[in-house]
Amino acid sequence: MKPQVIIIGRPNVGKSTLFNRLVGKKLALVDDQPGVTRDRRMGDAEIAGLQFTVVDTAGWEDEDELTLPGRMRKQTEASLEGADAAMFVIDSRVGLTPLDEEIGRYLRENDVPIVVVANKAEGSAGESGILESYSLGLGDPVPLSAEHGEGIADLFSALWPII
Ligand code: GDP
Ligand code: MG
Repeated sequence: MKPQVIIIGRPNVGKSTLFNRLVGKKLALVDDQPGVTRDRRMGDAEIAGLQFTVVDTAGWEDEDELTLPGRMRKQTEASLEGADAAMFVIDSRVGLTPLDEEIGRYLRENDVPIVVVANKAEGSAGESGILESYSLGLGDPVPLSAEHGEGIADLFSALWPII
């Protein structure tokens, strides 16, 4: 079986765009409105011969009756179950938000290997966000532009030792 890599992060950071980029097809709906991804989508990804199953999650976009921390814990546990690694996507143009910090705390408590993806890093608008994301304590961030397809080689370098 191929290793499974989950994409997680708060709404609007570009998870579905990254999913589509890796799968090479528009399987996931991309939208400026948070909450567009309603269920998990799986696809076959390959970077330079490294094959894995990639999973786009609704994760922290779900609304239910639980409190925010409870909801996140539930979603974290559910989405990380069976995962060989996770890509934690942040928006490098926005920088870290309280929700990013919260997700980071949960991920640090988990055993699944994490790659921090600092998305929307085309140009130089993302530089401070990239630097900020080191403070998550989840290793070196990978600057990337899912929309423009930049940084995929560095994503490969980060993923191949852990899956
Ligand atoms: P999700 O909610 O995390 O799944 O985010 P989406 O993939 O739906 O993207 C949210 C918005 O961010 C959309 O308007 C995308 O076009 C935009 N976006 C995604 N990736 C990038 C990127 O690399 N650079 C920029 N500038 N925008 C991006
Ligand atoms: Mg989405």
